[in-house]
Formats: sequence, structure tokens, C-alpha cells
Amino acid sequence: MRKLIFLGVGGGAPSRWGLPGILLIKDGFSALFDCGEGTQLKILEKGLGINVDVVAITHMHGDHVLGLPGMIQTMGLLGRQKELIILGPKELKDFLEESFSRTKFEPNFPIKFVDSYEGPDFRIVPFETCHTVESRGYVYEERERRNLDVEKLRAEGIWDYRVFRALKEGKTVQYGGRTLIPEDYLIITKGKKIVYTGDTRPCNNIIEASKNADVLIHDSTFDNNEEAHLYGHSNASDAAEVASKAGVGTLVLFHYSARYTTTEPLLDEALKRFPRAVTVEPLDTVFIR
Ligand SMILES: [Zn+2]
Ligand SMILES: [Zn+2]
Repeated sequence: MRKLIFLGVGGGAPSRWGLPGILLIKDGFSALFDCGEGTQLKILEKGLGINVDVVAITHMHGDHVLGLPGMIQTMGLLGRQKELIILGPKELKDFLEESFSRTKFEPNFPIKFVDSYEGPDFRIVPFETCHTVESRGYVYEERERRNLDVEKLRAEGIWDYRVFRALKEGKTVQYGGRTLIPEDYLIITKGKKIVYTGDTRPCNNIIEASKNADVLIHDSTFDNNEEAHLYGHSNASDAAEVASKAGVGTLVLFHYSARYTTTEPLLDEALKRFPRAVTVEPLDTVFIR
């Protein structure tokens, strides 16, 4: 099971929505997507540790990144030793090193800057988005799982573990005068795909990257503002159209403007075009089974 914890769900100016920060947790692994001001406090408020494995930043706008130097310093104060993996735009490394140097902080744990991340059964890869500055979104994608249907094999009188192994490796096996084809004995479970856009106008890149995602977390700064695209943002209606074209499972609207006191207008707008849209409150958890 995976959990998505929405720490802050607003964007731009600080508001009751908080600033972007999404924690993905799976089997003891955790990745933080964006780290606006206040993110580390929200993690503590949720009763979680800030000992995340991976931080993935979409772009250098303050609402997405200004919480990171502080959070890394707290990791240092708490005696972290584990390597921290950071994905993000090129300037991110300079920004962090400069802020560490100016605040006389030296991390006592290794920090590694990478472009993409390969986990044991998943990967996190960036894709280009369409904002006013260089900006990337992220695809979290699990590999499909192949489990052998041992019960079926045994029911057919096949108990030889060498046959089991060969079938699991995808090899066709001759056994007792029969030809056993792996596809007949493998239970294939598709891995989950979660996509986070960060800030973006609606554009083709997003549709491509989000194809058949289980969850798409899309910029939805406004409900229906003519100027949204000029600012490099999306309306809820745009997010819904992207979700529909990409054939996603669930659309999570994200990055709400401070002008809204409730997400209702955003959700209403999205539901006109895409039935499986939801909005989230700060500290909400979405479970993905
Ligand atoms: Zn933003
Ligand atoms: Zn931005």
C-alpha cells in the first residue's frame, strides 16, 4: 500500500492551504515532492519523522523550495547519517550550498544530487512542464509484479521447483510431454503510477507523462481565470481536461490560490469535465492500494 500525505496544498502566497509539500510513503520508503515554507512543521504536526529518503523539487519558485534548507538543517540537528537524495533543477544545488554556507551549517550526512531515482521496485523520473521558469514534474512508477500461480501448477500435478523457476523467468518449459507457457501460470500485477505536475499550464507533455496514471496531482491554481495560463498555471477545468485525455484514475486538484476559502468552486469546475476529481485539505492522506 502507498500513502500520499498532502502537507500543504496551496500555492503562491501563504494561506490556510499551506505551501506545496507532498509526502509519498511506501514500505518504509519516503519521498517528499516539493518543500514550501512550513513543510517540516506539517510533517511534525502529522506525527511523522523528517527522515525522508528522497526530496524531489519541481522548480525554484520560493513557494516550492524555501522550506528545504531549514528541513535539511533539522535533519542535521537530529543526527541524520543516511544519505539524502535530491532531485531538482540545476540551480537547486547552488541554492542549498549557498544557504548552508551563509548560515554556517555543514551537513554531517551525504547529500547526492541526481536527475532520476531508481528504487527497488519503482522509479521516480522527471518530465518537462510548461511554467514561467524551467520546471519539471515527476512520475513515480512501479514495476509490474510477476507471481507464479503455484496452486494452479500443483493442481495440474506439477511440483518441480525447477519448472517453477523457469516459468517465473518467462521461459517456456517442456514437462511430462506438455508445453508449459509462462503466461498461463503467471499472475501479473500492474504497478501503480502517480504523477505530480508542480506548477504548469495545461500542455501536451503533461498528457503524455500522465497516460493511464492511477493518480494525477495537477496544478489547479484557479477555478476559471482567463489569465491563469499567462502566469504559467492551470484552471481546475484545464486539469480535468488533461486528466480526461490522459485517461487517469483519480485527479487530485492541487496548488490552490489564496483567494479561495473553500475548494468547492475548483471541484465544481473540474467535475463538469472529469468525474473522478477530488480536492484535498492540508494534512489529508490518500491511500492507494
Ligand atoms: Zn507555485
Ligand atoms: Zn511556480
